[in-house]
Amino acid sequence: MKIGFLGLGHMGLPMAANLVKAGHQVTGFDVVPAALETAAGLAVPTADSAVQAVAGAEVVLTMFPSGKHLLDAYRGGLLAAADPNTLFLDCSTINVDEARAAAALAVEAGHRAADAPVSGGVVGAEAGTLTFMVGASDQEFETISPLLEVMGKRAVHCGGNGAGQAAKICNNMLLGVTMIAASEAFVLGEKLGLEHQALYDVISTASGQCWAVTTNCPVPGPVPSSPANRDYQPGFAGALMSKDLGLAVAALQSTGVAGELGTLASQIYARFAEDGGAGRDFSGIITEIREHSVSAD
Ligand code: NAD
Repeated sequence: MKIGFLGLGHMGLPMAANLVKAGHQVTGFDVVPAALETAAGLAVPTADSAVQAVAGAEVVLTMFPSGKHLLDAYRGGLLAAADPNTLFLDCSTINVDEARAAAALAVEAGHRAADAPVSGGVVGAEAGTLTFMVGASDQEFETISPLLEVMGKRAVHCGGNGAGQAAKICNNMLLGVTMIAASEAFVLGEKLGLEHQALYDVISTASGQCWAVTTNCPVPGPVPSSPANRDYQPGFAGALMSKDLGLAVAALQSTGVAGELGTLASQIYARFAEDGGAGRDFSGIITEIREHSVSAD
């Protein structure tokens, strides 16, 4: 397929490189010149402008920091530069309302649209093992499936435009809340004199069992591969969890859902990111909980 790939950052560049390796005709572009140089090093062909990158493309894939970047690009001439009926596939993580607005703009301009945010991080982008959560019609899903198979190991068709973003923030809101709860449980266990391993052995086989404990355990020891064993090197960075929880809160507000824990988790992760946790794995939130705990001595 002929693909215009915009946004060659931490995620976008390895995704584009995998598409090139699979034989697709990719033309990349990024507003940061250094990103174009790095792309050349990975054999990803680039253009001098976004307009050039999308010219003649069947699919325009975007991997941007935010919905504002996407809407600005769509309104700033990207949609007008593409051939009629081009499929605009956005893989960024953005606000659900912005995703729906972006899809509507694309359709109004005579194009097709899909959203497919990812989980799996930079490691998954490089290895081609991302999970895609897709918001698209059946026909659009079928068109993009061969591309998603190259860049990822799993694609879940969640519904129409915006449904991919909706699924992603619902999942990450749950993840943010459960990691805080798991961390509180381990800190409470410490205060009550429990060994980490003993508490892990109980939780991992009892009703408190969850991914935050069994895969990304916030204390070192019980799960050797968890970021806690390497001083909370990410993994999934606190800044990204804070961003996703901000999107979740926006969705809670726009839908009127009484999401008290999601809202509180967003505040806790915003503080974590400001206090030096932005570049640390989100499970490092346990150190904040310890620091904010009062000594019983
Ligand atoms: P990044 O900041 O490294 O890359 C984004 C790139 O988009 C930058 O290079 C930027 O210059 C470029 N860009 C912005 N506006 C542009 C425009 N108009 N035209 C061309 N390029 C433009 O971010 P990232 O880590 O690659 O993340 C991208 C998206 O993926 C974000 O929405 C993020 O939330 C999501 N995500 C990231 C991870 C992760 O681990 N990094 C995991 C899951 C999802």
